[in-house]
Amino acid sequence: MIYQRSSQLFAEAEKVIPGGVNSPVRAFKGVGGTPIFVKSAKGAYLFDEDNNKLIDYINSWGPMILGHAFEPVVNAVIEKAKKGTSFGMPTELETEIAQLAVSMVPNIDKIRFVNSGTEACMSAIRLARGFTKRDKIIKFSGCYHGHSDSFLIAAGSGLSTFGVPNSPGVTQGTAKDTLLASYNDIENVKALFEANKNEIAAIIIEPVAGNMGCVPPKEGFLQSLRQLCDENGALLIFDEVMTGFRLAKGGAQELFDVVADIVCFGKVIGGGLPVGAFAGRNEIMNYLAPIGPVYQAGTLSGNPLAMAAGKAMLEVLNNDAEIFTRLEEKTVYLHQGIQKVLTENNIDFTINRVGSMISVHFDKNPVFDFQTAKNGDNETFKKFFHGLLNEGVYIAPSAYETWFITDALTYADLDFTINAINKVAKSL
Ligand code: PLP
Repeated sequence: MIYQRSSQLFAEAEKVIPGGVNSPVRAFKGVGGTPIFVKSAKGAYLFDEDNNKLIDYINSWGPMILGHAFEPVVNAVIEKAKKGTSFGMPTELETEIAQLAVSMVPNIDKIRFVNSGTEACMSAIRLARGFTKRDKIIKFSGCYHGHSDSFLIAAGSGLSTFGVPNSPGVTQGTAKDTLLASYNDIENVKALFEANKNEIAAIIIEPVAGNMGCVPPKEGFLQSLRQLCDENGALLIFDEVMTGFRLAKGGAQELFDVVADIVCFGKVIGGGLPVGAFAGRNEIMNYLAPIGPVYQAGTLSGNPLAMAAGKAMLEVLNNDAEIFTRLEEKTVYLHQGIQKVLTENNIDFTINRVGSMISVHFDKNPVFDFQTAKNGDNETFKKFFHGLLNEGVYIAPSAYETWFITDALTYADLDFTINAINKVAKSL
């Protein structure tokens, strides 16, 4: 494939945008090479500036669960735009999408809309701190909750239970309130509660981690977190920015039958427009301004175009009784196909999958936390990525990302992908 125009556009972008991109992973630093500039997308396909057609397994990092340029969403946005694009005043549409979301997701009474997943998680933490009147939070290594300061924390050294900043600009003061635990290690979480009695406001977790590849929770892990939170007066925050409205209508809470106190959303809930949200039961959500003391706000929050897109998306997911089964069946088909061809080609690999989230790790051992995710062979991944790109299949340009399956993918697309993987595997 030729990427001449993409290369030129990237060179131009680098002059005026730091690193040429508005979000780092897009720059291909993990795999090398030049990022691909998109011209348009429809259904399961991307069309780039060099007129290459690519089957898309990123789908805007999750939102496009029904495929690109999905007509009900596009039409809803066009119709809304004609009537004004932002008011900074309440609209009926905000209540309608809130009612719909509350009806689909278990254990939530109220929902507040924001503009990104980052904002949702940042606000959820503030709310949990305000509600419990405690400062510390537990997060898991390898989980990503956006780029707000409290989350840009790495594990402290040795016996320290404190986190340390993992980006310049995050203060030590902020870092000391974020405790790091290993995903799927309940003893680790227990020890943190022991060492920080009555100080922990909340645990925040991706109930299926999607930011170290796809890493499922071990059997009973989420339930044990629920129990630990109850025993210690802490809140359980599910970051369902990836899993919400993807794994099931009610997200991971429904799939794993675990109750969270606050749930964060992003991606699918905005239908491809910039939307995030956080939700919980009345007792907690009523702590928010203007009725409660915890401040949170946004000029463009509840923006009519974003709400129109989100509502159109949620309506389809709510009304199509087969959608989540169909998505899972397609993902299982892909899983089995990849497994077959990688095995036939004697490659060491592990595939993780939950619902329509799937990832391929180039290591034969189980991947269940950040450490085991890091054991994957990155050099093989880079060749795999570029090989697939050359065959017209676009997966995330990083070994630590999930592939998102969309309903627009046909079985012919999946077969094409499996054949492409077979070809690429021969050169690994
Ligand atoms: N939480 C999770 C689980 C995510 O995957 C992401 C983004 O990928 C975020 C939060 C942050 O969302 P946003 O990029 O919309 O700020």
